[in-house]
Amino acid sequence: MIIVLKPRTTEENIARVEHLIKSKGLDTHIVRGSEMTIIGCIGDTTAVDPKLFEVDSSVDKVMHVQEPYKLANRAFHPENSVIDVSGVKVGDGHLAMIAGPCSVESYEQVLEIAKAAKASGANMLRGGAFKPRTSPYSFQGLGLEGLDILCAVRDEVGLPIVTELMSDKYLDVFNEKVDLIQIGARNMQNFDLLKQLGQVKRPILLKRGLNATYEEWVMAAEYIMAAGNENVILCERGIRTFESFTRNTLDLQSIPVLNRKTHLPVVIDPSHAGGKWWLVEPMAKAAVAAGADGLIIEVHNNPECALCDGAQSLKPAKFDALMKQLVQIAQVVGKTL
Ligand code: PEP
Ligand code: MN
Repeated sequence: MIIVLKPRTTEENIARVEHLIKSKGLDTHIVRGSEMTIIGCIGDTTAVDPKLFEVDSSVDKVMHVQEPYKLANRAFHPENSVIDVSGVKVGDGHLAMIAGPCSVESYEQVLEIAKAAKASGANMLRGGAFKPRTSPYSFQGLGLEGLDILCAVRDEVGLPIVTELMSDKYLDVFNEKVDLIQIGARNMQNFDLLKQLGQVKRPILLKRGLNATYEEWVMAAEYIMAAGNENVILCERGIRTFESFTRNTLDLQSIPVLNRKTHLPVVIDPSHAGGKWWLVEPMAKAAVAAGADGLIIEVHNNPECALCDGAQSLKPAKFDALMKQLVQIAQVVGKTL
Protein backbone atom coordinates (compact mmCIF):
# COMPACT_ATOMS: atom_id res chain seq x y z
CA MET A 1 0.00 0.00 0.00
CA ILE A 2 1.28 3.46 -0.88
CA ILE A 3 0.05 6.60 0.86
CA VAL A 4 0.40 9.88 -1.02
CA LEU A 5 0.39 12.95 1.22
CA LYS A 6 -0.94 16.35 0.20
CA PRO A 7 1.64 18.79 -1.27
CA ARG A 8 3.78 20.58 1.31
CA THR A 9 2.69 18.43 4.24
CA THR A 10 4.66 19.50 7.33
CA GLU A 11 7.09 17.19 9.14
CA GLU A 12 4.75 17.17 12.11
CA ASN A 13 1.88 15.88 9.96
CA ILE A 14 4.13 13.33 8.23
CA ALA A 15 5.12 12.02 11.67
CA ARG A 16 1.46 11.71 12.65
CA VAL A 17 0.59 9.66 9.54
CA GLU A 18 3.68 7.52 10.08
CA HIS A 19 2.61 6.87 13.64
CA LEU A 20 -0.87 5.88 12.44
CA ILE A 21 0.61 3.40 9.92
CA LYS A 22 2.89 1.88 12.56
CA SER A 23 -0.02 1.52 14.96
CA LYS A 24 -1.49 -0.95 12.41
CA GLY A 25 1.59 -3.16 12.70
CA LEU A 26 3.18 -1.95 9.46
CA ASP A 27 6.59 -0.50 8.77
CA THR A 28 7.14 2.59 6.61
CA HIS A 29 9.42 3.79 3.86
CA ILE A 30 9.19 7.55 3.35
CA VAL A 31 10.12 9.20 0.05
CA ARG A 32 10.38 13.01 0.26
CA GLY A 33 10.11 14.88 -3.06
CA SER A 34 10.38 18.64 -3.54
CA GLU A 35 6.59 19.03 -3.36
CA MET A 36 5.17 15.63 -2.46
CA THR A 37 5.86 13.01 0.15
CA ILE A 38 4.81 9.43 -0.31
CA ILE A 39 4.90 6.68 2.29
CA GLY A 40 5.26 3.02 1.37
CA CYS A 41 3.64 0.66 3.87
CA ILE A 42 5.66 -2.49 4.46
CA GLY A 43 4.17 -5.66 5.91
CA ASP A 44 0.94 -7.60 5.64
CA THR A 45 -1.69 -5.07 4.60
CA THR A 46 -4.46 -7.60 3.89
CA ALA A 47 -6.21 -6.96 7.20
CA VAL A 48 -5.76 -3.15 7.10
CA ASP A 49 -8.58 -0.99 5.76
CA PRO A 50 -6.99 1.66 3.49
CA LYS A 51 -9.97 3.97 4.00
CA LEU A 52 -8.77 4.46 7.53
CA PHE A 53 -5.72 6.43 6.34
CA GLU A 54 -7.85 8.60 4.07
CA VAL A 55 -9.48 9.97 7.19
CA ASP A 56 -6.26 11.89 8.02
CA SER A 57 -6.42 15.44 6.63
CA SER A 58 -2.82 15.25 5.33
CA VAL A 59 -3.50 12.18 3.17
CA ASP A 60 -4.28 12.81 -0.49
CA LYS A 61 -4.82 9.22 -1.64
CA VAL A 62 -4.11 5.61 -0.77
CA MET A 63 -3.08 3.18 -3.50
CA HIS A 64 -3.01 -0.59 -3.45
CA VAL A 65 -0.03 -2.31 -4.94
CA GLN A 66 -1.20 -5.79 -4.00
CA GLU A 67 -4.52 -7.62 -4.25
CA PRO A 68 -6.42 -8.14 -0.99
CA TYR A 69 -6.34 -11.92 -1.42
CA LYS A 70 -3.35 -13.99 -0.40
CA LEU A 71 -4.13 -17.70 -0.52
CA ALA A 72 -5.76 -17.55 -3.96
CA ASN A 73 -3.10 -15.21 -5.34
CA ARG A 74 -0.88 -16.49 -8.14
CA ALA A 75 1.91 -14.21 -6.86
CA PHE A 76 2.36 -16.39 -3.76
CA HIS A 77 1.60 -19.70 -5.51
CA PRO A 78 2.98 -19.61 -9.06
CA GLU A 79 2.05 -23.23 -9.96
CA ASN A 80 -1.44 -24.07 -11.20
CA SER A 81 -3.50 -25.79 -8.55
CA VAL A 82 -4.76 -29.25 -9.33
CA ILE A 83 -7.97 -30.12 -7.50
CA ASP A 84 -8.71 -33.78 -6.89
CA VAL A 85 -12.42 -34.61 -7.11
CA SER A 86 -12.64 -38.19 -5.86
CA GLY A 87 -9.84 -39.21 -8.20
CA VAL A 88 -10.68 -36.89 -11.12
CA LYS A 89 -8.03 -34.19 -11.47
CA VAL A 90 -9.00 -30.64 -12.43
CA GLY A 91 -6.52 -27.94 -13.43
CA ASP A 92 -3.01 -27.71 -14.90
CA GLY A 93 -3.98 -29.46 -18.12
CA HIS A 94 -6.71 -31.70 -16.73
CA LEU A 95 -10.19 -30.76 -17.93
CA ALA A 96 -13.34 -31.24 -15.88
CA MET A 97 -16.24 -32.25 -18.13
CA ILE A 98 -19.29 -32.04 -15.93
CA ALA A 99 -22.61 -32.96 -17.52
CA GLY A 100 -26.11 -33.75 -16.33
CA PRO A 101 -29.58 -32.33 -15.86
CA CYS A 102 -30.31 -29.01 -14.22
CA SER A 103 -32.44 -30.82 -11.65
CA VAL A 104 -32.68 -34.37 -10.44
CA GLU A 105 -36.17 -35.48 -11.47
CA SER A 106 -36.08 -39.27 -11.05
CA TYR A 107 -33.63 -42.15 -10.77
CA GLU A 108 -34.38 -43.31 -14.31
CA GLN A 109 -33.87 -39.80 -15.73
CA VAL A 110 -30.50 -39.26 -14.04
CA LEU A 111 -29.32 -42.79 -14.82
CA GLU A 112 -30.10 -42.49 -18.53
CA ILE A 113 -28.39 -39.09 -18.82
CA ALA A 114 -25.38 -40.16 -16.74
CA LYS A 115 -24.78 -43.28 -18.84
CA ALA A 116 -24.96 -41.27 -22.06
CA ALA A 117 -22.75 -38.46 -20.68
CA LYS A 118 -20.12 -40.94 -19.51
CA ALA A 119 -20.12 -42.72 -22.86
CA SER A 120 -19.48 -39.33 -24.49
CA GLY A 121 -16.50 -38.68 -22.23
CA ALA A 122 -17.90 -36.67 -19.31
CA ASN A 123 -15.91 -37.25 -16.13
CA MET A 124 -18.40 -35.87 -13.59
CA LEU A 125 -22.18 -35.85 -13.18
CA ARG A 126 -24.15 -32.74 -12.25
CA GLY A 127 -27.73 -32.49 -11.01
CA GLY A 128 -29.52 -30.15 -8.64
CA ALA A 129 -31.32 -31.65 -5.66
CA PHE A 130 -31.82 -28.29 -3.93
CA LYS A 131 -32.75 -25.65 -6.51
CA PRO A 132 -32.41 -21.88 -6.05
CA ARG A 133 -35.49 -20.77 -8.02
CA THR A 134 -36.55 -17.17 -8.58
CA SER A 135 -40.18 -18.07 -7.96
CA PRO A 136 -41.33 -19.91 -4.83
CA TYR A 137 -43.98 -21.57 -7.04
CA SER A 138 -41.39 -23.20 -9.33
CA PHE A 139 -40.05 -26.72 -8.78
CA GLN A 140 -37.70 -26.50 -5.79
CA GLY A 141 -35.88 -29.79 -6.30
CA LEU A 142 -36.31 -33.20 -4.70
CA GLY A 143 -34.06 -32.30 -1.77
CA LEU A 144 -32.49 -35.18 0.12
CA GLU A 145 -34.35 -37.69 -2.03
CA GLY A 146 -32.67 -36.12 -5.08
CA LEU A 147 -29.30 -36.37 -3.38
CA ASP A 148 -29.85 -40.07 -2.73
CA ILE A 149 -30.76 -40.56 -6.41
CA LEU A 150 -27.51 -38.87 -7.44
CA CYS A 151 -25.52 -41.08 -5.07
CA ALA A 152 -27.23 -44.21 -6.39
CA VAL A 153 -26.44 -43.21 -9.98
CA ARG A 154 -22.84 -42.44 -9.03
CA ASP A 155 -22.52 -45.94 -7.61
CA GLU A 156 -24.07 -47.44 -10.73
CA VAL A 157 -22.23 -45.41 -13.38
CA GLY A 158 -19.02 -44.43 -11.61
CA LEU A 159 -18.96 -40.66 -12.07
CA PRO A 160 -18.26 -38.25 -9.16
CA ILE A 161 -21.28 -36.04 -8.43
CA VAL A 162 -21.54 -32.25 -8.37
CA THR A 163 -24.55 -30.68 -6.70
CA GLU A 164 -25.51 -27.40 -5.10
CA LEU A 165 -25.54 -26.74 -1.37
CA MET A 166 -27.88 -23.89 -0.43
CA SER A 167 -28.05 -24.15 3.33
CA ASP A 168 -25.63 -25.05 6.11
CA LYS A 169 -28.40 -27.31 7.39
CA TYR A 170 -27.10 -29.94 4.96
CA LEU A 171 -23.38 -29.27 5.35
CA ASP A 172 -22.67 -32.59 7.06
CA VAL A 173 -24.67 -34.71 4.65
CA PHE A 174 -23.01 -32.99 1.65
CA ASN A 175 -19.60 -33.45 3.25
CA GLU A 176 -20.34 -37.13 3.54
CA LYS A 177 -21.95 -37.79 0.18
CA VAL A 178 -21.06 -35.15 -2.45
CA ASP A 179 -17.80 -35.32 -4.42
CA LEU A 180 -17.75 -31.65 -5.49
CA ILE A 181 -19.96 -29.20 -3.57
CA GLN A 182 -21.39 -26.46 -5.77
CA ILE A 183 -22.03 -23.00 -4.34
CA GLY A 184 -24.43 -21.24 -6.67
CA ALA A 185 -24.20 -17.73 -8.04
CA ARG A 186 -26.82 -16.50 -5.58
CA ASN A 187 -24.82 -17.68 -2.59
CA MET A 188 -21.39 -16.52 -3.74
CA GLN A 189 -21.37 -13.87 -1.05
CA ASN A 190 -23.11 -15.85 1.67
CA PHE A 191 -20.08 -15.29 3.88
CA ASP A 192 -21.35 -17.39 6.75
CA LEU A 193 -21.79 -20.37 4.44
CA LEU A 194 -18.39 -19.73 2.81
CA LYS A 195 -16.67 -19.76 6.20
CA GLN A 196 -18.33 -23.06 7.08
CA LEU A 197 -17.05 -24.61 3.83
CA GLY A 198 -13.57 -24.20 5.26
CA GLN A 199 -14.41 -27.12 7.54
CA VAL A 200 -15.47 -29.62 4.87
CA LYS A 201 -13.12 -32.12 3.29
CA ARG A 202 -14.77 -31.93 -0.14
CA PRO A 203 -13.64 -29.56 -2.91
CA ILE A 204 -15.89 -26.61 -3.76
CA LEU A 205 -17.15 -25.37 -7.14
CA LEU A 206 -17.68 -21.66 -6.53
CA LYS A 207 -19.89 -19.99 -9.10
CA ARG A 208 -19.50 -16.32 -9.90
CA GLY A 209 -22.23 -14.09 -8.47
CA LEU A 210 -24.66 -12.52 -10.93
CA ASN A 211 -22.97 -9.15 -10.64
CA ALA A 212 -19.69 -9.96 -8.94
CA THR A 213 -16.38 -8.41 -10.00
CA TYR A 214 -13.36 -10.68 -10.37
CA GLU A 215 -12.02 -9.38 -7.07
CA GLU A 216 -15.28 -10.02 -5.20
CA TRP A 217 -15.38 -13.53 -6.66
CA VAL A 218 -11.79 -14.35 -5.73
CA MET A 219 -12.36 -12.86 -2.27
CA ALA A 220 -15.27 -15.30 -1.87
CA ALA A 221 -12.82 -18.12 -2.70
CA GLU A 222 -10.39 -16.59 -0.22
CA TYR A 223 -13.07 -16.89 2.51
CA ILE A 224 -13.27 -20.65 1.96
CA MET A 225 -9.49 -21.01 1.73
CA ALA A 226 -8.79 -18.85 4.77
CA ALA A 227 -11.24 -20.99 6.73
CA GLY A 228 -9.20 -24.10 5.93
CA ASN A 229 -10.31 -25.56 2.59
CA GLU A 230 -7.94 -24.65 -0.26
CA ASN A 231 -9.64 -26.92 -2.80
CA VAL A 232 -11.68 -24.38 -4.72
CA ILE A 233 -12.61 -24.40 -8.42
CA LEU A 234 -14.00 -21.15 -9.84
CA CYS A 235 -16.95 -21.26 -12.23
CA GLU A 236 -17.95 -18.48 -14.62
CA ARG A 237 -21.67 -18.79 -15.47
CA GLY A 238 -22.43 -15.48 -17.13
CA ILE A 239 -23.05 -12.09 -15.59
CA ARG A 240 -25.92 -9.62 -15.75
CA THR A 241 -25.54 -6.99 -18.44
CA PHE A 242 -27.91 -4.66 -20.32
CA GLU A 243 -28.43 -7.39 -22.95
CA SER A 244 -31.70 -9.20 -22.48
CA PHE A 245 -31.70 -11.53 -25.50
CA THR A 246 -29.46 -13.97 -23.65
CA ARG A 247 -30.05 -15.04 -20.06
CA ASN A 248 -26.66 -13.66 -19.03
CA THR A 249 -23.49 -12.56 -20.82
CA LEU A 250 -20.68 -15.12 -20.77
CA ASP A 251 -17.47 -13.44 -19.69
CA LEU A 252 -14.78 -15.50 -21.39
CA GLN A 253 -12.20 -12.88 -20.45
CA SER A 254 -12.52 -14.22 -16.94
CA ILE A 255 -10.41 -17.22 -18.01
CA PRO A 256 -7.15 -15.39 -18.87
CA VAL A 257 -7.74 -12.76 -16.17
CA LEU A 258 -8.18 -15.32 -13.42
CA ASN A 259 -5.38 -17.48 -14.75
CA ARG A 260 -3.14 -14.47 -14.34
CA LYS A 261 -4.42 -13.44 -10.90
CA THR A 262 -5.00 -16.81 -9.25
CA HIS A 263 -3.75 -20.40 -9.38
CA LEU A 264 -7.23 -21.90 -9.04
CA PRO A 265 -8.86 -23.80 -11.93
CA VAL A 266 -11.57 -21.95 -13.88
CA VAL A 267 -14.55 -23.89 -15.24
CA ILE A 268 -17.11 -22.41 -17.65
CA ASP A 269 -20.88 -22.95 -17.52
CA PRO A 270 -22.19 -22.06 -20.99
CA SER A 271 -25.70 -23.33 -20.16
CA HIS A 272 -26.66 -20.76 -17.52
CA ALA A 273 -24.74 -18.07 -19.39
CA GLY A 274 -26.69 -18.05 -22.64
CA GLY A 275 -29.88 -19.72 -21.49
CA LYS A 276 -30.32 -21.26 -24.97
CA TRP A 277 -29.20 -24.75 -26.02
CA TRP A 278 -27.81 -23.58 -29.36
CA LEU A 279 -25.41 -21.17 -27.66
CA VAL A 280 -23.84 -23.96 -25.63
CA GLU A 281 -21.77 -25.52 -28.41
CA PRO A 282 -20.00 -22.38 -29.69
CA MET A 283 -19.37 -21.02 -26.19
CA ALA A 284 -18.11 -24.37 -24.87
CA LYS A 285 -15.65 -24.60 -27.74
CA ALA A 286 -14.51 -21.00 -27.26
CA ALA A 287 -14.05 -21.60 -23.53
CA VAL A 288 -11.75 -24.60 -24.01
CA ALA A 289 -9.83 -22.73 -26.71
CA ALA A 290 -9.42 -19.79 -24.32
CA GLY A 291 -7.84 -21.98 -21.66
CA ALA A 292 -10.73 -23.03 -19.41
CA ASP A 293 -10.01 -25.90 -17.05
CA GLY A 294 -13.36 -27.48 -17.75
CA LEU A 295 -17.03 -27.10 -18.53
CA ILE A 296 -20.28 -27.74 -16.71
CA ILE A 297 -23.06 -28.40 -19.19
CA GLU A 298 -26.75 -29.16 -18.71
CA VAL A 299 -27.80 -32.30 -20.57
CA HIS A 300 -31.37 -33.63 -20.57
CA ASN A 301 -32.87 -36.67 -22.27
CA ASN A 302 -36.22 -34.93 -22.72
CA PRO A 303 -35.65 -31.16 -22.48
CA GLU A 304 -39.17 -30.32 -23.65
CA CYS A 305 -40.46 -31.80 -20.39
CA ALA A 306 -37.61 -30.74 -18.07
CA LEU A 307 -38.70 -29.39 -14.68
CA CYS A 308 -36.02 -26.70 -14.90
CA ASP A 309 -33.86 -25.12 -17.64
CA GLY A 310 -34.96 -27.34 -20.54
CA ALA A 311 -34.36 -24.52 -23.04
CA GLN A 312 -30.66 -24.43 -22.27
CA SER A 313 -30.14 -28.18 -22.04
CA LEU A 314 -28.43 -30.26 -24.72
CA LYS A 315 -29.86 -33.60 -25.76
CA PRO A 316 -27.36 -36.45 -25.24
CA ALA A 317 -26.65 -36.76 -28.99
CA LYS A 318 -25.76 -33.06 -29.24
CA PHE A 319 -23.55 -33.35 -26.17
CA ASP A 320 -21.82 -36.33 -27.76
CA ALA A 321 -21.12 -34.42 -30.97
CA LEU A 322 -19.80 -31.47 -28.94
CA MET A 323 -17.46 -33.70 -26.93
CA LYS A 324 -15.91 -35.06 -30.11
CA GLN A 325 -15.01 -31.52 -31.17
CA LEU A 326 -13.83 -30.55 -27.69
CA VAL A 327 -11.37 -33.43 -27.65
CA GLN A 328 -9.71 -31.91 -30.71
CA ILE A 329 -9.66 -28.38 -29.31
CA ALA A 330 -8.26 -29.65 -26.01
CA GLN A 331 -5.43 -31.31 -27.90
CA VAL A 332 -4.55 -28.04 -29.64
CA VAL A 333 -4.32 -26.16 -26.33
CA GLY A 334 -2.37 -28.96 -24.66
CA LYS A 335 -5.05 -30.30 -22.31
CA THR A 336 -6.28 -33.79 -21.69
CA LEU A 337 -9.91 -34.73 -21.78
C1 PEP B 1 -27.07 -24.54 -11.47
O1 PEP B 1 -25.93 -24.79 -11.88
O2 PEP B 1 -27.93 -25.38 -11.36
C2 PEP B 1 -27.37 -23.15 -11.08
C3 PEP B 1 -28.49 -22.84 -10.43
O3 PEP B 1 -26.46 -22.26 -11.47
P1 PEP B 1 -26.20 -20.71 -11.03
O4 PEP B 1 -26.00 -20.72 -9.55
O5 PEP B 1 -24.96 -20.38 -11.79
O6 PEP B 1 -27.39 -19.94 -11.46
MN1 MN C 1 -30.01 -24.93 -14.42
